[in-house]
Amino acid sequence: MGWCSCLSALSRGPRPWAGFCRGSWLSLLVYIVVGFGTLQAAPMPAAAEFSLPSLPYSANALEPAVDGRTMNIHHDRHHAAYVANLNAQIPSFPKLASLDLTTLQGSISKYPAAVRNNGGGHYNHSLFWTVMAPAGKGGKPSLTLTKAIKAGFGSQDAMQQQFNQAATSRFGSGWAWLIVKPDGTLAITSTANQDNPLMDLPGIERGTPILALDVWEHAYYLKYQNRRPEYISAWWDVVNWNDVNRRYAAAQSAKRV
Ligand code: MN
Repeated sequence: MGWCSCLSALSRGPRPWAGFCRGSWLSLLVYIVVGFGTLQAAPMPAAAEFSLPSLPYSANALEPAVDGRTMNIHHDRHHAAYVANLNAQIPSFPKLASLDLTTLQGSISKYPAAVRNNGGGHYNHSLFWTVMAPAGKGGKPSLTLTKAIKAGFGSQDAMQQQFNQAATSRFGSGWAWLIVKPDGTLAITSTANQDNPLMDLPGIERGTPILALDVWEHAYYLKYQNRRPEYISAWWDVVNWNDVNRRYAAAQSAKRV
């Protein structure tokens, strides 16, 4: 008995296959193989909405301040996991797919912890990679930024000391930030876990981040173990002031709009 007769024997209703089959089992095999091939060639479902940005330098480019092994694990595993876990939330919250990452931070209070932690993790690390550059390649604070730093903190050294204090005293995991406040002035703040100053959450000093330091142990433990202050001190050598200047200028012009 061929497959047509076999299906016909099982079916009482219409027989849509009757018009195109010739009944042999071989023909069924051909249909399956061709059909499968067509499925393979069909466009894949829409790609995940958020994606892992590449590091803008090689993983060992920030040595000796930040070692290559830490950078590899930090980017390829930790950051990648935040992106994957954020994308895993899209089926539950389809609106996520239409939000850009920065906008999402400002409405994070509408979402559960999984979106807050992974959306924050994705934003924070995406920013973190760009505010670092190989030692000697990051330029220096622009004249306008220098002026704002002097107005806000007295001097560059005083700003860095206050930043170091925020980074050192953050208990457990979190971040230190230099932000532009809504009134256009600078401030230093710190957040826990993967929170950031864009988030519409109680207890967060809000502003536009222009410089960020990750003080999770995963950011420094392989090289510095428990010596977080040593990591923080060495990290200033790899700050990408060119990018901080750009972010400061963008925050200032956004404020004027
Ligand atoms: Mn991290």
